[in-house]
Amino acid sequence: MEGPSLYLAANQLKPFRGKTVLTVSGNSKIEKERIPNKKVKAIFPWGKHLVIQFDEFALRTHFLLFGAFEATVNDSPLTGDYRRSYTPRLQLDFENGSIKLFNCSVKFLETRNAKASYDFTIDIMSSKWDPDKAFDSITSKPGVEIADLLLDQEIFAGVGNIIKNEVLWRVRIHPQTKVANTTPSKLKELIAETRKFSLLFYKWRKVFLLRKHLDIYQKSICPRCGAKVKREKTGKRNRISHFCPVCQIKLE
Ligand SMILES: [Zn+2]
Repeated sequence: MEGPSLYLAANQLKPFRGKTVLTVSGNSKIEKERIPNKKVKAIFPWGKHLVIQFDEFALRTHFLLFGAFEATVNDSPLTGDYRRSYTPRLQLDFENGSIKLFNCSVKFLETRNAKASYDFTIDIMSSKWDPDKAFDSITSKPGVEIADLLLDQEIFAGVGNIIKNEVLWRVRIHPQTKVANTTPSKLKELIAETRKFSLLFYKWRKVFLLRKHLDIYQKSICPRCGAKVKREKTGKRNRISHFCPVCQIKLE
């Protein structure tokens, strides 16, 4: 799940705000017995985190690479028809429904106000997102490949591999181009496009039309020039990059 999906999740989970947890289950090793009888004060996203705030503490879910969630309210699924049959990491049951969290890391934050501990100026989906700060962070790392920087959660919290590949294609930057080998104006274009595409991702995902709007991620032909799309692991992060070898020339 990437940032826009977490923002959508937090919106979908609004019916649980103010509700009390009845029972908790799942294969997580955290001290689950702390949660029953606690009331949900707020649910908010940050980057790839989803935080459920209770009175005395918060529960932080980090969705990592393959995390997912399902939720049901008054017997209606909020999250589509697909149902996972395996045991969730954590399941919270309420009188009006349930939340199941899969393939994620869950952790307690010992605070009455977890929101205050997050820097929303680096969250690509936040209204507080600060593009100038991202520019300063990027330019302080001249030797780093741009695809790696886009996945840096200290700079672009919420950006995952789909957003990375789509944005690089849109601005015609090769994933292995280093910051020092591009221009300040190109970097600014990259930052602006990352924000713009993330907001579009949210809009499309909400109406189940994300896949339809992807141009390079998991495609075989570049829709701009017709060249065969390349897929290879790049950078220190060793994540798959999908790019067009004609539109995205590596600058050295
Ligand atoms: Zn192309």
